Amino acid sequence: MTAIIVGGGVAGPATALALQHVGVEAVVLERRTDHNPTEGSYFTIAPNGLDALDLLGVLDLARELGFPSTTNTMYGATGRLLGELSLGRPLQDGSVALTAKRSLLAARLLDEAERRGVEVRRGAEVVDVAGVANGATVTLASGERLTADLVVGADGVRSQVRRAIDPAAPEGRYVGLTNFGGITRGSALASTLRPEAWHFVFGARAFFGAHPTPDGDVVWFVNVPEPEISRERRAATSPEEWQRRLLDLVTGDHGPAAELVADGVLELAGDNTYDLPHVPHWTRDRLVIVGDAAHAPSPSSGQGASMALEDAMVLATSVRDHAPTAADLPAALRLYEQARRARVERIVKAGARSSSSKIPGPVGRRFQEAAMTVVFRYVVTDRSTAWMTGSRLSWDASVVA
Ligand SMILES: Cc1cc2nc3c(=O)[nH]c(=O)nc-3n(C[C@H](O)[C@H](O)[C@H](O)COP(=O)(O)OP(=O)(O)OC[C@H]3O[C@@H](n4cnc5c(N)ncnc54)[C@H](O)[C@@H]3O)c2cc1C
Repeated sequence: MTAIIVGGGVAGPATALALQHVGVEAVVLERRTDHNPTEGSYFTIAPNGLDALDLLGVLDLARELGFPSTTNTMYGATGRLLGELSLGRPLQDGSVALTAKRSLLAARLLDEAERRGVEVRRGAEVVDVAGVANGATVTLASGERLTADLVVGADGVRSQVRRAIDPAAPEGRYVGLTNFGGITRGSALASTLRPEAWHFVFGARAFFGAHPTPDGDVVWFVNVPEPEISRERRAATSPEEWQRRLLDLVTGDHGPAAELVADGVLELAGDNTYDLPHVPHWTRDRLVIVGDAAHAPSPSSGQGASMALEDAMVLATSVRDHAPTAADLPAALRLYEQARRARVERIVKAGARSSSSKIPGPVGRRFQEAAMTVVFRYVVTDRSTAWMTGSRLSWDASVVA
């Protein structure tokens, strides 16, 4: 059986590796030609995502790229500790959540898939996707057409494969936050922050997150509640101007934000944040979507990559168990969708709640901080989030209707 996978982010190479494991020969088409190692932000893979990486045989590779994270610590703008949240129960071997550069992990997974014999075509932009008798076809920008038994859309929140499945499919929803990220190298503040932990500040005008690295650097991000940043504004604003604005926004909040932003280098600027809460159809005939193409959560969920990795595993086991021949693929793809939908939609909802908590409300800062200490003591707790991060998959499990 053969598959074309559109997209070489996290979901694409993970799906290629998972399908390879069950005997499906895949080609990955990625429109980017190369990867810029300094670009983009850091993200955290929760233990449920690490579990999937382990099953795909790439956990050690991922570990080489990142550093451990055990805890989220939440502070108010006044410096008050609002609460602490574990990043999830470690794997059996003790592995805790992992923070790494998003683009770097995707690039390494793609290289690894290629090293294991998956055909990877970079600079291959898909411009059309269509179901044909007994298979599916994609057309590249070059005009070349490729056909396979199955086409998997791992092409992100603006997915073309999603539109091919259902032209009326929803587009990503702007969640009201923009995203900026940077790194402050060799910072004296690194040793003042709790090791292996995110330090979050619900600031007066923006939400700030910082994580010390084992090398003495601090990686950080700022979420700004504001309308979507247009392409024109992004093009017209220099990194120095963004950084000055971020500094204005975090100045006055208690904690390390202002110093880290002032001394740091911006690696992600003016990124609008979208989610995708409900896509009515994930599959049609021999087409299917995985990862952000099917269910993008707001980054505040900390689960987007983990969900994409879980999708890859569940799709592959469903194909293995329910598609002995290519003609059985449509039924196997429907089972994959049924197995995944409730969990991922619940996570996207949780992410949306978490995003809105970052937007300062009209009530006073002190009142809001008092309310949040209650939330982090009784509502958002290690126990109440265990269903998200505690899930574990297995190659021995079957996807059942
Ligand atoms: C700022 C930020 C912070 C985040 N933080 C976290 C976090 O802490 N934890 C977490 O788990 N998740 C986080 N996420 C979410 C996570 O990064 C995504 O959910 C995850 O990477 C899913 O990736 P994907 O492969 O489905 O999509 P993408 O990463 O968007 O990859 C899609 C790929 O498809 C390619 N592509 C698109 N269209 C075409 C086409 N027509 N032809 C060929 N190629 C195409 C694109 O170039 C891209 O490489 C964060 C996201 C952002 C934006």
